Amino acid sequence: VDESYIMVKPDGVQRGFVGEIISRFERKGFKLKGLKLFQCSKELAEEHYKELKAKPFFPKLVDYITSGPVVCMAWEGVGVVASARKLIGSTDPLQAEPGTIRGDLAVQTGRNIIHGSDSPENGKREIALWFNDGELV
Ligand code: ATP
Ligand code: MG
Repeated sequence: VDESYIMVKPDGVQRGFVGEIISRFERKGFKLKGLKLFQCSKELAEEHYKELKAKPFFPKLVDYITSGPVVCMAWEGVGVVASARKLIGSTDPLQAEPGTIRGDLAVQTGRNIIHGSDSPENGKREIALWFNDGELV
């Protein structure tokens, strides 16, 4: 069974989309394994997005993710990683299809309200990075 790390980014929390986003994953049929509101450090944001370290937007990305509390979630289910990416939509919200989370709720790549793991391996890596064992059921 796959696991995906899903995170409501600071703008998604500030704009009040936590409930809406949880609902979409619940309605799809995935199983919630972990959930917390969390202010992340610069170090954790850098580790999470380490594959993007060389990108010109990396410092801004780290500032964005640490700009306020995020909601961290671990979701489990058959095919959850690929399915979550579909529910979330394209990285650029203007390219994301209507009906997807980013397509419905966002307009800027640098303010795209939600993260989803891009592979089952990264799903496991990210859940281990953001959660302690005792925080997962
Ligand atoms: P995420 O990993 O957050 O789920 P993603 O997998 O759709 O998003 P990535 O390529 O992993 O996209 O980029 C991570 C995040 O970095 C994006 O969600 C976005 O917030 C930011 N980002 C990506 N490309 C750009 C860009 N060209 N300009 C500004 N920010 C960007
Ligand atoms: Mg990504």
